[in-house]
Amino acid sequence: MPIKIKIYLLTILLVFSAVGATFVLQIYQTWEDLKESEYVATLSLAKILDQTITEDYDTLLTDTQQKLPKKEKIHLLNTLLQPVIQRLHLAFPEYGIGFYVRDLNSIVAFAPDFNTKGLKDISSQSKARTVYHTGVPLRFNSYSQTRDALVVATIYPVVRHGKIIGHVWANVAVKDLEKIFKERLTEQLLILLTILAVAIFGTNFITNKYIESIRLFREHVRRLDLNTQDSARFTPELIEVYTEVAEAYSKLATSEKRFRDVANAFDEFVWEIDTEGRYTFLSNKVSEMLGYTPSELLDTFVFDMIYPEHVGYVKREFFAAVQAKRAFINLEFQRLTKNQFFVWQRTSGLPVFDQHNELIGYRGATRDISERKRYEEEIRHLAYYDILTELPNRTTFNRLLHQAIETAQQEHDMTFAIFFVDLDRFKNVNDSLGHDVGDSLLQKVALHLKLHFPATCTVSRFGGDEFIVLLPTPELTKQAASIASKIIHTFTDPIHVQNHVLHLSASIGIACFPQDGHDPVTLIKNADIAMYYAKANGKNQFCFFSHELKQQASEKLELENNLRYALDNQQFILYYQPQVHLGKKQIVSVEALLRWRHPTHGMIMPNTFIPLAEETQLIIPIGLWVMRQACLDFQKWNQLGFVLERVAVNVSSIQFRQPHFVEQVKNILLETKMPPACLELEITESVTVDNINYAIDVMDELRRLGISISIDDFGTGFSSLNYLKNFPINTLKVDRSFIINIEEQTNDLAIIRSIIALAHSLHLNVIAEGVENYHQLCYLSQQKCDMIQGYYFSKPLNEEDLIALLCHPEALPNFPD
Ligand code: C2E
Ligand code: CA
Ligand code: CA
Repeated sequence: MPIKIKIYLLTILLVFSAVGATFVLQIYQTWEDLKESEYVATLSLAKILDQTITEDYDTLLTDTQQKLPKKEKIHLLNTLLQPVIQRLHLAFPEYGIGFYVRDLNSIVAFAPDFNTKGLKDISSQSKARTVYHTGVPLRFNSYSQTRDALVVATIYPVVRHGKIIGHVWANVAVKDLEKIFKERLTEQLLILLTILAVAIFGTNFITNKYIESIRLFREHVRRLDLNTQDSARFTPELIEVYTEVAEAYSKLATSEKRFRDVANAFDEFVWEIDTEGRYTFLSNKVSEMLGYTPSELLDTFVFDMIYPEHVGYVKREFFAAVQAKRAFINLEFQRLTKNQFFVWQRTSGLPVFDQHNELIGYRGATRDISERKRYEEEIRHLAYYDILTELPNRTTFNRLLHQAIETAQQEHDMTFAIFFVDLDRFKNVNDSLGHDVGDSLLQKVALHLKLHFPATCTVSRFGGDEFIVLLPTPELTKQAASIASKIIHTFTDPIHVQNHVLHLSASIGIACFPQDGHDPVTLIKNADIAMYYAKANGKNQFCFFSHELKQQASEKLELENNLRYALDNQQFILYYQPQVHLGKKQIVSVEALLRWRHPTHGMIMPNTFIPLAEETQLIIPIGLWVMRQACLDFQKWNQLGFVLERVAVNVSSIQFRQPHFVEQVKNILLETKMPPACLELEITESVTVDNINYAIDVMDELRRLGISISIDDFGTGFSSLNYLKNFPINTLKVDRSFIINIEEQTNDLAIIRSIIALAHSLHLNVIAEGVENYHQLCYLSQQKCDMIQGYYFSKPLNEEDLIALLCHPEALPNFPD
C-alpha cells in the first residue's frame, strides 16, 4: 500500500478515535450537567423558600386567611410564592418547579404556569411519601400530568424548626432534556467537526509535504550510484528506502523488457501516445509495417502520416475518447509508409492514467489490415462492378437510376435519358471465334463506349453484349439523338481483337424520364424495346422509345408465344417446291418451305414469322424440326417409289452458327436413316459474315458427312468472290431478284451470265429460283443454267399435291427446245 494512503488512514483513525472519545465524554458531561443543574434548581428553590418562609404556612397566613377554605388558601399561597417561583424559573427556564405544602396536601405554587391540574393530592404517591417520612431528598423518573411528559424529578424537603413543612420539587421533561441535550451536542459536534476538518487538511498538507520530500529523496537516490561514497552519507533508514527504490527499478526494467519483447512478438505494433497524439513509445514492429524505426517516429504525431481523407475522422474519434477518458476501438484508416505507399491500418487504444487518476495518454496496438481491405474492396467491386469490363454492373446501374429518378422528382422539370446499347451480331463472334475473343471484344467495346460517351454519363454492363448508359442531365438528354448517332458512327472503324479484325455495329434504344417511365424497371424495359426495334429495323441504328413501339413489342411478344405454341402443337407444315433439271427435263429435287397453319389466321407465310423466330432463337428448334420432317418425308416418298435425288432444306444463319449444328445434323441423319447425299442444305452468304473461316470449317464438316450445300440468294450478299473458291459447296442459287429483271434487259443479264460462268468454272451447279415464265426459262437455258425452280414449273405444294405431280411428270409445262 502506498505510504501516503497509510499515513492518511492512520491520521484519520487517530483523529476519529480522538473525536469519538471526546464526544462520548461530552455526552456524559452534558448529562451530568443537566442533572446537576436540576439539583441546583431544586436546592436554590429550597434555599429561597428558606429565606422567604420563616414560619410554617399557617403563620404565613393571617388568622382570617387561616379559616379560608383550602382552595382559596392555596391560591393565596400561590400568589405569595409566585414571585419566588418565577425568579427560579427565569434562572432555570427548562425546569418545571413546584412547591408542595404538606398541611394542605397540595402543590401551592408552580412554574412556568400555575395550573389547577397540579392541585392534587400527591401524598399517596409512594416516592413523595418516602421524602415526607425520611426527609431525605429523592430523584426519580415519573410522568408529569402538568407537563404531559416523562420527567426527571427531584423532591427536596423544606424543613422549618425541625418540622417538614412541605417540599420543593423540580422536574424537567425528558423531551426538554433531549432538546437541551441535542442542542449542546450539536454545538460540541460542530466544534469537533471543525477540529476534524482542520486535522484532515493539516494531514493532507503534511502528507503531501512528506510524500514530496520522499519523492525528492528518491529522485536524488536514483541519480546516485549505490556503490559510491554517497551511500555512506545516508542514514540506515534512507539506505533501506534506497534499496527499495533500486529493487523496484530493476523489477521495472525487467518487466519493461518483457513488455517490449511481448510487444515485438505481436503482429501488431504496440505504441504509447500522449493526450495530443504524440508517440512516446513504439515497438520495433513498426519498422516492418511503416518502414520507420521507432526512434524516427518518437515525438511525431499519429495524425501526421494519415491519409488526408481519414485524418478528420481519426482526430474526431481520438479527441472524443480523450474527452471522455475512454478507450477508442478499431479505428481504420490509411497511412503513408516511408516508401510513400498507403497501407490500411486498424488501431485500438486504452487510456493510461497517472497516480492522480489524470489521463496521461493511450497505449494500444495497430494492425496492418491492407490485405483484408483488399479483399473487401474486391468483394465490393465484385458486387458492384462487372468483372470482365470493370464497368459498373446491373446492380450499380439500378441504384444510380433510382437516385437519378429521386433527384429528378425533387427538381421540377428535370429529365434524363438512358441508352440501351446492344452489339449487332456479337453472338456470331462468340460462337465462331470462341469466348476468349468474345471477352476481349467486350472489354474493348466497354472502353470504347466509356471513351465516346460524354464524361458525366455512366456506362455500365447490363449483361452479355448489352450495355446501358445513363445520360444524367436535361442538356445531355436534349442531345440524345446526336450522341446516339455519334456512338453508332464510332463503330465504323474495325476493332482489332487478338489477331482478328472485327467489323462491329451497335443498335441503341433510348428511353427518357419521365415520359417513358417513372421507375427503373419500366425505363430499362422501354429502352430495351426501342433497342429491339432498332435491331429489327436493320441494326446499326438508334431508336427512341414510343408507345407505338410498345404496342408492336407486345404484339411481337404475343407472336413469339404463339410460335412456341405452334412448335409444340404441330401447327407447322412443310410445302415442297420442285426443282427441275433442264438437261434431264424432270424434277430431281424439291425445296422444303415452311408454313404455319394457324387455327384462326389460316396459312401464315415464313417471311412473317422467320425473322422473329431468328431473333428469339426459336429458329433453332424450328429448323431442326424442318430438317427432320423433310428427311422423314423424303424417305417415305422413296419407299413409295418416287425417285428424287435430293431434298433441299433452308438453314438460318442463326442455326448454322450455333456450336452444335453439325452434331444435330448428324443425329437427324442417323435418326431418319437418311442418306446424307440426299440432303441439301441451303445457306446464305450471311453465315460467313463474322468469321469466314469458321463457316468454311462447318461447311467442310458437313461435306465430309456427305451432305450437299448450296448458297441461297446468291448475288445479294456481300461475300467476296475471292472466298467463293474456298467454299466446299455444290450449288449456287441465283437470287430471284436477278431473274425478275431478265425481260428488262438490264445489267442483271450480265450478272446472271457471269454467275453461271463463274459457278461452272468452279465446277458448281447453278440453280435459278423464282422463274415465272417461259422467257426467263429460255434465257437461263441458253446460259446453260443447270436447274430451275419457280412458279413456271410449280408453286410450293403440299405433300399430297407434290405426290400427284410426281405421279404425272407429263403435267409439267414446256421445256425450251
Ligand atoms: P427462299 O429460301 O428464297 O425460298 C424461296 C421463296 O420464293 C419461297 O417463299 C417460295 O415460295 C418463293 N418462290 C418460289 N418460286 C417463286 C416464283 O416463281 N415467284 C415468286 N414470287 N416467288 C417464288 P416462301 O416459301 O414464302 O419462303 C420465303 C422465305 O422463307 C424463303 O426464301 C426462306 O428464306 C424462308 N424459309 C422458308 N422455309 C424455311 C425454313 O424451313 N427454314 C428457314 N430457315 N427459312 C425458311
Ligand atoms: Ca431457299
Ligand atoms: Ca432464295
